[in-house]
Amino acid sequence: MKRIYLDYAATTPTHPEVVKAMLPYFTDLFGNPSSIYSCGQEAKGAIEEARVKIADLIGARDEEIIFTSGGTEADNAALKGVAFSNENKRNHIITSSIEHHAVTETCQFLERRGYRITYLSVDAYGLVDPDDVRKAISNETILISVMYANNEVGTIEPIAEIGKIAREAGIYFHTDAVQTVGHIPVDVNKLGVDLLSISAHKLYGPKGVGALYIRKGTKLLPFMHGGEQERGRRASTENVPGIVGFGCAAELAQQEMGEEAGQLTYLRDQLTNGILERIDHTRLNGHPLQRLPNNVNISVDFVEGESILLNLDLEGICASTGSACSSSSGESSHVLLAMGLPPEQVHSSLRFTLGKWTTEEEIERVLKVLPQIVTKLRALSPLLRGRK
Ligand code: PLP
Repeated sequence: MKRIYLDYAATTPTHPEVVKAMLPYFTDLFGNPSSIYSCGQEAKGAIEEARVKIADLIGARDEEIIFTSGGTEADNAALKGVAFSNENKRNHIITSSIEHHAVTETCQFLERRGYRITYLSVDAYGLVDPDDVRKAISNETILISVMYANNEVGTIEPIAEIGKIAREAGIYFHTDAVQTVGHIPVDVNKLGVDLLSISAHKLYGPKGVGALYIRKGTKLLPFMHGGEQERGRRASTENVPGIVGFGCAAELAQQEMGEEAGQLTYLRDQLTNGILERIDHTRLNGHPLQRLPNNVNISVDFVEGESILLNLDLEGICASTGSACSSSSGESSHVLLAMGLPPEQVHSSLRFTLGKWTTEEEIERVLKVLPQIVTKLRALSPLLRGRK
């Protein structure tokens, strides 16, 4: 049975070109970039080339990019970096109630250390209201952190509007753009952000590498201590093959993103409309238009999302109930709850995320198999007993 992978938001396969670009840095070009001899300096040169490619993808300058071990570290570095540089001075951070755990858990950590956090509510589509951001600002506010696009429901937040508010108030603005960079155009200047998180494995790069964009002049304390790598902003020997792969993925994204987004939007709509037409008691979660081109999040009433997933897996189809982390922990989605979905609809949600190699035949197969699975599960469902 051929596997159908529809969980690109959890991770993307590494692009074959990326693997090819990385390989020499495991073998011939293995030098430590901090070494002054030529094999070290070659590795250093490769890192700097990758930095330029990533900066180009988001309209930044290369010296404004630091490499990290992924999106989680970039989020931690941004939030803790700003918080710690304001220690014993100002202490208020504004964020949303639908952030990835990398942001919410960091906020909760800071809260336990005396920082005050405002978690903004969202509307039924998962949108943050920029006016709420404006109203939450106080003299104590040091940072606003709102994600660019939500990893579970794909809703794209009004980042440029929030950026304008942050600018006017003179407050640093961070966005977690892990699900966005490489998929839709991102320009740090148009958005007015000071800090932006990226992860390579969400854009066909390798796992375990990411970046934080830090606008020139932004004051933040490094949260890793050790060597002088990344101009003293992030200690530890660089993950050279990973960074080279990340750079290659960024370059490919720049070339392919436009066409790919068109194709994905078409397939996404085929899948969404097909499910809504063929299975009754289903609804789309997230904003119908202001959403990522690859995200389909649906609630299927009277069945557990988890049971559907297991049955899809038996058919060779990989999907998710939300973020990769909440899928394995069995926790309810804080995103869907924040959007006001009743708990039973939260438990019956299902996320398909499409990607570069998704085909129309694959979508057709899901549309054939999914209604059969739902009918089977509903026939067994205690939730349906007593209903027609
Ligand atoms: N932020 C968002 C929105 C994500 O979707 C993810 C990964 O799922 C992360 C952060 C964490 O990124 P990483 O896996 O590179 O640590």
